[in-house]
Amino acid sequence: MNKETYLGVDVAPLTYKQVIKEITQRIDQNEQSTVIAVNPEKIMKSQSDETLRGLINGSTFQIPDGVGVLLASKLKGGQIHSRVTGVEMMGYLLHLAEQKSLRVFFYGAKEEVVTKAIENIQHDYPNIIVAGYENGYEQDNNKIITHIQESEADMLFVALGSPKQELWIRDHKDQLPVKVFQGVGGSFDVYAG
Ligand code: UDP
Repeated sequence: MNKETYLGVDVAPLTYKQVIKEITQRIDQNEQSTVIAVNPEKIMKSQSDETLRGLINGSTFQIPDGVGVLLASKLKGGQIHSRVTGVEMMGYLLHLAEQKSLRVFFYGAKEEVVTKAIENIQHDYPNIIVAGYENGYEQDNNKIITHIQESEADMLFVALGSPKQELWIRDHKDQLPVKVFQGVGGSFDVYAG
């Protein structure tokens, strides 16, 4: 896959629609995809944090979230011309889930936030199939894993803050039936309004 690299950190020069197209192909080929938002703060932190750099470069799609990434691409004559934000990417993925009847699981944020976010998402995406949810303060990780496995989720949004959510995805994706993972930070709070 085509990547641009800034200070050793990969960024995918893709638009929302291109990410969705590639994820759709990967779903059809039964391949998992992980989406991580990259901004200048993460690139700078990655200079001294090898784990973070590995997490970013080990993801399938490093979306260019943050104008600083666009500026860097422009200066280097790269192909990144528009931002792809985590919260908007989530909207595109929810739309894809609706179209393809994918089962969506929501993990993270406070109980009242995740439930309100789901309520609002069901309003905005009436054909969405909610496979289940867990709040981000549940301490029993095995319970969470079992719940997601039994839910037969195809798509999983994890909102635990970064990089906690990406570490969790990295450590558990092989145990899960999920095809599309996105760490979404504060996006459940945004959807909860
Ligand atoms: N969160 C959580 N469990 C934790 C820590 C955080 O569920 O142990 C949630 C928190 O409630 C919030 C989200 O993770 O909904 C973090 O959002 P934030 O904006 O801090 O993340 P960022 O986008 O900065 O990574």
